[in-house]
Amino acid sequence: MNYEVVIGLEIHLELQTISKLFCGCSTAFDREPNTNCCPVCLGLPGSLPVFNKRAIELAVIAALALNSEVQRGSRFDRKNYFYPDLPKAYQVSQYDRPLARGGYLEFEADSGVRRVGLERVHLEEEAGKLQHAGNSIYQAEYSLVDYNRAGIPLLEIVTAPQIHSGREARAFLENLRLTMLYAGVSDCKMEEGSLRCDANISLRPPGSDRFGTKAEVKNMNSFRSVEMALDYEVGRQAKLLDAGSIVVQETCHWDEVNKRTISLRDKEESSDYRYFPEPDLMPLQLNNSFIEKLAEKMPELPRQRLQRLLEQYGLDKEAAVLLTANPGLSNLFEETAGIYGRYKDLANWIQGDLLYQLREQGKEPVEINPNQLAELLKLLDEGVINRPVAKELLSEMVQRGLSPKKLVEDRGLTMISGPQKLVPLVEQVIADNPEAVESYQKGKKKVIGFLLGKVMDLTGGRADPGEINRILKDKLKD
Ligand code: ADP
Ligand code: ZN
Ligand code: MG
Repeated sequence: MNYEVVIGLEIHLELQTISKLFCGCSTAFDREPNTNCCPVCLGLPGSLPVFNKRAIELAVIAALALNSEVQRGSRFDRKNYFYPDLPKAYQVSQYDRPLARGGYLEFEADSGVRRVGLERVHLEEEAGKLQHAGNSIYQAEYSLVDYNRAGIPLLEIVTAPQIHSGREARAFLENLRLTMLYAGVSDCKMEEGSLRCDANISLRPPGSDRFGTKAEVKNMNSFRSVEMALDYEVGRQAKLLDAGSIVVQETCHWDEVNKRTISLRDKEESSDYRYFPEPDLMPLQLNNSFIEKLAEKMPELPRQRLQRLLEQYGLDKEAAVLLTANPGLSNLFEETAGIYGRYKDLANWIQGDLLYQLREQGKEPVEINPNQLAELLKLLDEGVINRPVAKELLSEMVQRGLSPKKLVEDRGLTMISGPQKLVPLVEQVIADNPEAVESYQKGKKKVIGFLLGKVMDLTGGRADPGEINRILKDKLKD
């Protein structure tokens, strides 16, 4: 049978602060285990939390970027549960009075512009990290715990159940990541766990006005695995329903190795957590000017950049979407566009050969000097060098930061052009290859490619093949 797929996502982002949410400990990644800790983040008796103002600012910026309504008053609560990565046996989170309510994210999807609604955005603290001996939690004889991460500020974003496929969930997440990157609130690295996503999923007959029972899927650590896990889960639930059985509300774990979901436990209810207001923190009161100042300083967001690339530079949709998806690349585009006016050509080079070279050589777009890039394209436009030479110079420019102009001078790469230089070379090749010339004249027109190659070789690859082709044809008619 056909079902309508209903998905809602819960996303966690580590905010880019220097210190933790309630203490001065560093948030630096990759330190010796248990060295970024203090009595507050370890929950030792007598210690008291203090708000990190920067974390609140970043959370508000994120909420504004997501069109979510920032609440003038919000509150922190204790979410109580025991797990070894949680030193206090409760997590400070926000329950019934979140930092922001509602909102939406709009993005470019296969079907055009998509808008997915949000339910809430709130702040909470990160837990520590368990390191299981052996390959997995199931085989481990023991586990080690590192509390360096405990207390790092986390932003939780909860979507409405308005996503309808694994593919769409992935597109939503990729665009959420981009928006948060542009807003400068998180580095959003799924592989390092600074962006994580749990997915709730249910099926219902098309047109039904009631939701089906949902299952929650956890432990997906790439955009690709989110899509795969959701597709798998759709299939699993559809099979159950087709067989007249029911979906049980539960929490599942995505098994990356075997590409399937495994049931972990019954889904807990919020009452299981015995939420109550955090007595050691005042309710959070934000005044209008605090919020307005942050709104004024809001960096440009992806939708705006996309619009600008289309309107200001006249790029086509595909190029604009691709550049927007890579902030470093679009920054380079704009810096270079300030000194090089053929925007479409520039965009083509950046998306094509430059992107390829960057990946090949493991470099970032910020390492490219816009002046050098503009120089290279101008040399090509002016006919000083040809395309193959330009590509070669681009590679050296990326690798060693060398000026294309200087390379052309040092190595004598200037293009060989004009009949005066080219005709003698063509004549020489014709004289040296009588058999090829004969078969050309008998009708094997493809042979011209062979002759053209010979002439190109004589120029050291520095001529325009089109020009040689014209001269060759001309001479072969004689
Ligand atoms: P819970 O109380 O079980 O945590 P919430 O109502 O808080 O559930 O919703 C958590 C997430 O699950 C949200 O992203 C929401 O959009 C999504 N969600 C809620 N109900 C469903 C459903 N029937 N199918 C799919 N997703 C759902
Ligand atoms: Zn601390
Ligand atoms: Mg909930």
